[in-house]
Amino acid sequence: MREYEVKCIRCGARFSREDVVYTCRKCDGLLDIKYDYSEIGAEQVVKAEGEGVWKYRVLLPFDEQETKPITINEGNTPLYRCDRLAKSIGIDDLWVKHEGLNPSGSFKDRGMTVGVTKAVELGVKGVACASTGNTSASLAIFAAKAGIPCYVLLPKGKVALGKVAQAMMHGAKVFSLKGNFDDALRVVRVLCEEEKLYLLNSVNPYRLEGQKTIAFEVTEKLDWEVPDRVILPVGNAGNISAIFKGFSELKTLDITDDIPKMTGIQAEGAKPIVNAFKEGKAEIIPEDKPETIASAIRIGNPVNAAKALHAIRSSGGVAESVTDDEITEAQFMLARLEGIGVEPASAASIAGLKKLVEMGKIERDERIVCITTGHLLKDPERVIKICEPPKEVDADVDVVRAMVKGV
Ligand SMILES: *Cc1c(COP(=O)(O)O)cnc(C)c1O
Ligand SMILES: [Zn+2]
Repeated sequence: MREYEVKCIRCGARFSREDVVYTCRKCDGLLDIKYDYSEIGAEQVVKAEGEGVWKYRVLLPFDEQETKPITINEGNTPLYRCDRLAKSIGIDDLWVKHEGLNPSGSFKDRGMTVGVTKAVELGVKGVACASTGNTSASLAIFAAKAGIPCYVLLPKGKVALGKVAQAMMHGAKVFSLKGNFDDALRVVRVLCEEEKLYLLNSVNPYRLEGQKTIAFEVTEKLDWEVPDRVILPVGNAGNISAIFKGFSELKTLDITDDIPKMTGIQAEGAKPIVNAFKEGKAEIIPEDKPETIASAIRIGNPVNAAKALHAIRSSGGVAESVTDDEITEAQFMLARLEGIGVEPASAASIAGLKKLVEMGKIERDERIVCITTGHLLKDPERVIKICEPPKEVDADVDVVRAMVKGV
């Protein structure tokens, strides 16, 4: 039996692995899964076999033999070296990990494979989430695979088309809530408590266990040397917290010596973590009306703020915000310099990198990994808005030739 504890990061209260609990019952603090690292050998990680999230199951909260994962081959996404993009930004050593190439098109699958496996182990009667889109798409897929009911609450009119399509197609019960994401999360948390559904938002610490494997994959691909800096978009701030935890575990196990500077990017219209970081505050001030084209990070009250601020500060990283125009420009750069198609939120990582280089806060020779969190096809409506439409043309070679020469 794998030993681990579910522990409050604020007051240290402990909860058992059979307990269905999302935040501390004593102080409402965030929970974290704690292992006995003296029981885990470095070579169990470095020499692990398999692919993707479950390759690292020695660092996941399940019994190694008994548990049958609910999996659709998530993780194992490519880490691209991006020299053309690096050159245009004025740096030397840039890599992009394209999480948009997960089965549902976002990194959420890493968390959901673990979260839904846990749900099945607990024997829950259904799973639920609030979502800006990708969480619902991913949960719908894993619930389908597990054969359990799935309920998702989406903020009305605020979810990119591809994401809603996925949730609907994979059989989730989809509700369009008259409110924003933060309202949806408030409602679903009470619903889960009262109706005994299992909540799979990123406040659920099991999800973050899956997402931390991004750190393992990055480090492994770089021959077990950590990069100097990791940059990613921040919404509810679960992913930056999870990746930081992954790097911390590698260091604890003496596999690596350092932790990369965790660098979180938010949109100008939804930046409570950036504000708290810059003002040196321990707590965020929630924003009532978050607004940005990057719908996946349109979040005013990030639940994992406490973990994220710790990750950023203790790793020597920074938090910065970017405008929607900067996000769009970065989306084009990734697409046209590197062939990497991402949704707007993901491009925030590149926009942030560019801005921080211009501000002199990032050194030219740093080894940098940007995480692109979701696929371009998630948000086709945005593409239609920002790209020139196809030119209509007669089915005639001469006409087409004239047009080809004309452009
Ligand atoms: C969920 C999501 C984010 C934000 O991640 P958090 O863990 O909420 O900070 C960023 N980009 C995409 C594409 C997402 O789906
Ligand atoms: Zn507590």
